[in-house]
Formats: sequence, structure tokens, C-alpha cells
Amino acid sequence: MEKETITVTSPLLPNLEEFQELLRDIWSKKWLTNNGEYHKRLEKALAEYLKVPYVCLFTNGTLPLLTALQAMRISGEVITTPYSFVATTHSLWWNGIKPVFVDIDPATGNIDPDKIEAAITPKTTAIMPVHVYGKPCDTVKIQAIADKYGLKVIYDAAHAFGVEVDGTGILNAGDMSTLSFHATKVYNTVEGGALVVHDEKTKKRIDYLKNFGFAGETEVIAPGINGKMDEVRSAYGLLNLKQVDAAIEARRKVAMKYRNALRTVEGISFFDDMPGVRHNYSYFPIFVDAEKYGMTRDALYFKMRDAKVLGRRYFYPLISEFSTYRGLPSAARENLPLAHKMADSVICLPMYHTLNEEDICRVLDIVCDK
Ligand SMILES: *Cc1c(COP(=O)(O)O)cnc(C)c1O
Repeated sequence: MEKETITVTSPLLPNLEEFQELLRDIWSKKWLTNNGEYHKRLEKALAEYLKVPYVCLFTNGTLPLLTALQAMRISGEVITTPYSFVATTHSLWWNGIKPVFVDIDPATGNIDPDKIEAAITPKTTAIMPVHVYGKPCDTVKIQAIADKYGLKVIYDAAHAFGVEVDGTGILNAGDMSTLSFHATKVYNTVEGGALVVHDEKTKKRIDYLKNFGFAGETEVIAPGINGKMDEVRSAYGLLNLKQVDAAIEARRKVAMKYRNALRTVEGISFFDDMPGVRHNYSYFPIFVDAEKYGMTRDALYFKMRDAKVLGRRYFYPLISEFSTYRGLPSAARENLPLAHKMADSVICLPMYHTLNEEDICRVLDIVCDK
């Protein structure tokens, strides 16, 4: 029998009957968007779940990045990581800000805080780190640098839904954090996202900015954008929130099985859990040491593909390698050796809540059996 393709991810979907019930309610109320009941309920429910004071919902995970930069009037240069999804740096470019790339810490894949200070210039206004794969950045060290130089910190926390450090939600770090609820993420609203802020005044300002800058029927206080999430996806999001813990637990079990099997495979390394951290197991990256493993990363990647097991080379190529950014001085290969090493060796294995025993065995058979 022809084997089915194992995809790298599979979305968390709400119960269809429950969703239909909520749709019926929306149909009867005829309120589809603009801060409706489900939108308000989801903002409140997410703030509670994520252990943060205020959540501003958005229609995707890129608009909160753009809006955070606008809201804090960030300009000049912003220090960031090349080891991420392009949206991180694109948000700077769209705001006319010059990204300055700093190398990563190979222990986490996140920006190396010890290399940030050397990249600061008189034009630097902010730091935009990413909690890559949901692994928390060293938020204490980053904040200390920001305080010393008077810089803002905006975390791209698109991967870090539900991640906690010593019982505190990771989204409390920095001035603001952004989330993505894209279909491929741990928690999704089909498309969607959020900006997490720490006080009511900022929450209000963001709510104006995501609605064209309208502060009243006839008052526009700033050149805002349309970033609003609608009632249909807010209702969908409420239902998915009820099952996200079970999905994370299912992902944890997959991660444990992967780790147990891969620990003895020479030339393959991976991340273990960090002490005191509640992880969300959003991705399962492995790193191939071609010499020790006896096969290159790409050879393994294509061998997987031939066997209908789809991995992803996240994040290869580095953002700094794309034509938009390649000419920047900080994009030079010599400036980012560790990020290049990681990008050149990574494969994200299939990881989702419904991955079953048979699927896991198929994945492991390919990686373990050279
Ligand atoms: C997914 C993602 C985004 C963008 O989110 P969208 O909802 O797809 O717009 C931004 N940054 C990172 C690191 C991401 O992985």
C-alpha cells in the first residue's frame, strides 16, 4: 500500500459542531467585526491563559510587529537576529528601520545577549529578539542592556505561545511581545496574531492603531492601519484555547519519543528542556553534523522527502542572506558564523498533536537508519 505523506505540521482544529453553534450565534447577532463580543471574550481569555495583563488581537502575526514599532515610534537601527522567519526583519524594513544582525547562542538558537552591546550605535533605538522554537531568550540580560542604553525591547514571540519561565508567562518580558496564530503555530485562529502590552493606556493606543487610528466616531488620532480580528476567527480561537493544553501535552510526548530514540544517534543533536521552563514543543529541530553522521543535512532532508516524510529546513537560509538584507554590513557571513552553522545543519522534524506512534516510527526509521 502506498504510504501517506507525513507533513511537518498539522493544525489544531476546533470541534466542528461546537464551531457551528457559535457561527449560528454570530449569524443571529449579525456583528461580524470591530471589537465584537467574541473578540472581547478571546482577548480576556488569552490574557488569563498567557498570564499577561493585556492582549490586543490582530488579524495576523505580522501586523502586531509593524504596529508595535509604530506605537513606540522606533526608528534608526534595531538590533535583531538573522535566525528567524523573515517577518521579523520585514517589519523593520516596512517601518524604514535598518536591521542590525547579531549572531546567536548555539545553546538556544536565540540572539546572543553578550554580542548585543558591540552592535549598539548612536542610531540604535531598540532590540527585537525572537524566542526561536519557543525557547525563551535570556530576557534578564537583554533587559539590563536595554536599560543601560535606554533602548526599547520588542519580542517576536510568534513561537512562544504558552511558554513560561518559573511560572511567569514569557510574554511579560520587554516593552511588548507579539504572537502569531497562523494555522501552522501551536495555537491558531486560521490566520491571526496578538500584541501583548503591560498597561491599559498602551492597550488603548494599540486598539486605536489597529483600527485606522479611530479614537471616536469622528476623531482619528494617528495614521493607523486595519489589523482587526473578526468575530468568526475569535469564536474559533475561543474553542481552540480549550484544547491547546492537551495539544501541547501530546506534542511533549512526541518530543520525548524523538529524544529517546535520537540520543544515541551519532552526529544528530537536538535541544533538551530548559530547567524551570514550561515549553510548548512548537518545533522539533535536529542538527546534523555531516562528518559524524556520515550524510549531509540536505541528503537527509531529501531522503526524508523521498520517503514522504516532510521536514523543514527552518531557518535556512538566514534572513541576512535574502537579497533585501544581504548588502547590510551586519549581514556579512563573518559576523554570523554560529547562525550560519545552525542554519546549515537544521531540519525540523514533523511535530504536531495528532502525530501517532506509526508516524513517529517512520520518521525515526529514516533518521536513525543511515
Ligand atoms: C509565523 C511567524 C511570524 C508571522 O506571523 P504571521 O501570523 O504568519 O503573519 C513572525 N515571526 C515569526 C518568528 C514567525 O514564525
